[in-house]
Amino acid sequence: MSILHCPACRAGKIRFATRTSLSDVLLTGLTIYPFRCQLCAYRFRTFLGRRTPNPRRSFDRVEVSFPVWFKSHRSSPASGVGHEGVIENLSIRGCRIRSTASMRIGSRLELEFQYSDNSVPVAIEEAVVRSIADGAIGLRFTKLHRSDERRIRQLIDVWLPELLHSV
Ligand SMILES: [Zn+2]
Repeated sequence: MSILHCPACRAGKIRFATRTSLSDVLLTGLTIYPFRCQLCAYRFRTFLGRRTPNPRRSFDRVEVSFPVWFKSHRSSPASGVGHEGVIENLSIRGCRIRSTASMRIGSRLELEFQYSDNSVPVAIEEAVVRSIADGAIGLRFTKLHRSDERRIRQLIDVWLPELLHSV
């Protein structure tokens, strides 16, 4: 067995991708599955040789605990009031924030979080609220500067174990 590597960036942080297309479903019969690189988001298919369930999401979220500051996106009318919270999990595509701030699904936010005392905050230029449950706000990142994306990628690389093995 060897660890699966990304054909695009060679990283070993690969997870099953959700099977969405008809060809994804048909190839499942041959145990050829879609995969996602967790660092560069490249999607590819490869033969696995064993059956696995369809995952709920294509990007594994790493459990973290980082202070975060957020507010409505500057383009929205309610912009201005800032909120605090804690980022509980993180992928290169989104995160979950624990906060008492009241939010609406579909709201656009901008946020900054800090992953260590002496780090410059990582900024998410724009994120959309996708879910709200029990004081947790699920976000999907929609605009991210390349330098901030690179820093999130480095965090994922450190925190996410290499789990997927090929036959
Ligand atoms: Zn990659």
